[in-house]
Amino acid sequence: MDRISIAVPVFNGNEKKYLMECIDTGWVSANGRFINEFQERFAEFCGSKYALACSNGTVTLHLILKAMGIQPGDEVIMPTLTYVATANAVVECGATPVFVDSDPDTWNVDPQKIEEAITPNTKAIIPVHLYGLSCDMTAIMTISKRFCIPVVEDAAEAHGAKWDNKRVGSIGKAGSFSFFGNKIITSGEGGMIVTDDEDLYNRMKLLRAQGVDPSRRYWHVARAYNYRMTNMQAAVGLGQLENVDWHLQQRLRIANIYNKQLSEKLEGYVTVQKVDNSENHVYWMNSAMLTDKVKKSRDQIMKEMEACNIEMRPLFYPMHIMPPYRDLTLNCPVAEKLAERGINLPSHALLDEEKITYIVDCLQKIIVE
Ligand SMILES: *Cc1c(COP(=O)(O)O)cnc(C)c1O
Repeated sequence: MDRISIAVPVFNGNEKKYLMECIDTGWVSANGRFINEFQERFAEFCGSKYALACSNGTVTLHLILKAMGIQPGDEVIMPTLTYVATANAVVECGATPVFVDSDPDTWNVDPQKIEEAITPNTKAIIPVHLYGLSCDMTAIMTISKRFCIPVVEDAAEAHGAKWDNKRVGSIGKAGSFSFFGNKIITSGEGGMIVTDDEDLYNRMKLLRAQGVDPSRRYWHVARAYNYRMTNMQAAVGLGQLENVDWHLQQRLRIANIYNKQLSEKLEGYVTVQKVDNSENHVYWMNSAMLTDKVKKSRDQIMKEMEACNIEMRPLFYPMHIMPPYRDLTLNCPVAEKLAERGINLPSHALLDEEKITYIVDCLQKIIVE
């Protein structure tokens, strides 16, 4: 069996044609028809009024927080179990990330823990829809309204996931997406912000492009950034977005095979994220948590899977145990356990039933003793 990678981008639409158009017409930087079209179509996809394309998903988070006025002294609550970009965007504003534990069933941020972490300095809450599964947005928006604290959704891993019939990203004050090469759809590098708030949108637009006055060239009204997306990235992103339903169908097809086989062959040995409604999860990753019945360490299992030519990844490490954010006084046992015992399985559109069977059979041989 050839090596099975954890993630593979698939370009089976107009990506190449659009990219060639950029080169042929010379529209290669931050102006051009693909930027506008990508933004409009993505806003429509999420059911949001506005969308802003940026150079990557980390700067989209920073741009949102900056435009909301997050500054030194402010606290921003987020799960400790996330990708490091969420925390980095907060410190980039000079503010303090406040890490909270995960729910043991969904692995997403525990709303109860968010509420307990609120102080007078809390200025935002960032739920992260981990591995494609929507957070409990009903509980989180209730807290947001009760304490008047805006929610910024980190939807980098969850394009298209729904909560209560709304697409994630469109539920809080603003939502952030990533189009890195391993995400559900990609533009190489890239990010997108969606929001319904016109003032916030205008502030973000200003800060995205050097704070330049829209009606006076080289006149800058704010100290700002260059966080623009190129037309070439947008060309690829638009090609992908035109096929987003296909991409989402593949994710679901693969997850159904995994879930069936994991429950048949590894019952009691692994658990997966609990999904109440199938629309809540778009399965950016198919992840599994090793139960106490599994005697080998996670890293040993990953090594043995590698010998079968299968790439596996650990779950993220919690922010509060890593050097830049270390705080060993924090009590987040759920996230720590997930990080120690969690695995990500190959998850991409090119996997067929034969490959998934091979993956689960290898896993079974390695962990069932
Ligand atoms: C991928 C990702 C981001 C943004 O990543 P970029 O590589 O900067 O596009 C942010 N948050 C989470 C949770 C992610 O997985």
